[in-house]
Amino acid sequence: MQCFHCGRVVQETTHTQRNYAVDYYRLHTGKTEWEFLTSLRDDGLPHRYLKLTQAIDINTCIQCYARPEIRQRLDDDFNGRRSLIDI
Ligand SMILES: [Zn+2]
Repeated sequence: MQCFHCGRVVQETTHTQRNYAVDYYRLHTGKTEWEFLTSLRDDGLPHRYLKLTQAIDINTCIQCYARPEIRQRLDDDFNGRRSLIDI
């Protein structure tokens, strides 16, 4: 497994008796498209949501996760503003 952002190999979380070490975070994402529910909400607007059309797991190492610009990209993907995998 590799970090999606810097390409380094990431290790599984290791556990000791008192501690554990996390080396990466996994984001479950993928290709999405906006879908509209046909039923209308109380305010008369159709409900819009992101439908996952192809699931992809993205690994982010702890060094990349500490970088604000990478956090922003993960956040943008999570909120549907900009997909990580279309870039
Ligand atoms: Zn990385």
